[in-house]
Amino acid sequence: MNPDLRQIPSVDQLLRLPAATALIESFGRPMTLKALRETLSTLRARLVQGQEIEVTPELIFTHSQSLLNAWFALSLKPVINATGVILHTNLGRAPLSQSALQAIFETAQGYCNLEYDLDEGRRGTRSHHAAQLLTQLTDAEDALVVNNNAAAVLLVLSSLAARRNVLIARSQLIEIGGGFRIPEVLLQSRARLLEVGTTNRTRIEDYENALRDSGAAVILHAHHSNFRIIGFTEEPPLPALAELAHRYQIPLVDDIGSGALIDTAQFCLAHEPIVQESLSAGADLVCFSGDKLLGGPQAGIIVGKKDLLEKIKRHPLARALRADKITLAALSATLIHYLRGDWEHAIPIWQMISQSSEVLKERAEHWQAELDAGFVTPGYSTVGGGSLPGETLPTHLLSLPVKSPTRVLKWLRNRPLPIIARIENDQVVFDPRTVLLDQEKTLLDELRQLISQENILK
Ligand SMILES: *Cc1c(COP(=O)(O)O)cnc(C)c1O
Repeated sequence: MNPDLRQIPSVDQLLRLPAATALIESFGRPMTLKALRETLSTLRARLVQGQEIEVTPELIFTHSQSLLNAWFALSLKPVINATGVILHTNLGRAPLSQSALQAIFETAQGYCNLEYDLDEGRRGTRSHHAAQLLTQLTDAEDALVVNNNAAAVLLVLSSLAARRNVLIARSQLIEIGGGFRIPEVLLQSRARLLEVGTTNRTRIEDYENALRDSGAAVILHAHHSNFRIIGFTEEPPLPALAELAHRYQIPLVDDIGSGALIDTAQFCLAHEPIVQESLSAGADLVCFSGDKLLGGPQAGIIVGKKDLLEKIKRHPLARALRADKITLAALSATLIHYLRGDWEHAIPIWQMISQSSEVLKERAEHWQAELDAGFVTPGYSTVGGGSLPGETLPTHLLSLPVKSPTRVLKWLRNRPLPIIARIENDQVVFDPRTVLLDQEKTLLDELRQLISQENILK
């Protein structure tokens, strides 16, 4: 039987209907036309296949509307992080402070003096803005902000060690998630890797012998970040490395990864390298991220000796890797919190790290009471972001005993404001530590909807 294709209206006919006007108002004329045409051709194909459908304007407009909704949806969107991993790289690392957000808004909304010297009325430098705050905070001579820490390390090595040796301990040939591997960054910078020592032990004599025999342009020290070596291990302390480097008149570059400006030990965590500490131990340049333990936007920060930074700023890659005005605005506002001393309350990651287990217990119990489901159990949050491996923060979790945890996780991910939770002991758990206060209501509303479904809870 031939399908009746005559029941399909023309686009012109459809455009005369009020529903078309509504779509055009929301999505514009060209995309509405595209959606209508695509819908008509889909329906035509189904009729040709022999499907029995009644083609009504209502069907056409519903289908077109859902196409348009999908085409116009932002694929990058906010989520609720209920995993308890504070610097979750997959979830965008550090949420920003209110004043960092305000700075982004004010800077991006109009023009700014990004590269304009307001005193002199002529061209200025963008690196000046955050550098001034960074040198105040760390007592470094100068500073430069680039796209991320991988870019910082690449730029430093390209500027100071291209076609020359870079000396590094075998225990520090690290890989960070997302493809940052020290040997590969070295290769890209055209520096030659000169590895010394063994996987577990490297002594200062290993460095010295290599320097005497082969020479080097730089000694690179890299923080292990996301792993620990324990047992029969040895690495020379930073001051000894600095003394050796300076005796051979070459710089010591320290990639400390997280770039804490304050001591994590005050929160019962292991000690992470601190920028100021590395500089006072004698590192000539220190590289670190802006969005790990600093709690700011994605950025790579290089602080240290002025003459080295002058050379680095002149390298052609510096232009390619430079930070934009939005990053500089947010980073500067974040750094001000450290200068003023209100970082613990103003910067979200420190609020989260410093939350006590008792306060988190109250929050989890409040959730449990609101939902009248699940139970509260002690658990652990982690810092994440390649810092503090194996270190945990005691927390309290809301635990939901559901029949199919993976199916529930998928349902949660598909919410308009997606919720990312985790499975522990075959139950779905929610850690209040990383759930922002203004997202709590949405989380509870969604969970209420979840448990009201049949056959969800065990
Ligand atoms: C995280 C990390 C990097 C990479 O930093 P990004 O800001 O993610 O580019 C480099 N080195 C170390 C030691 C790190 O921990």
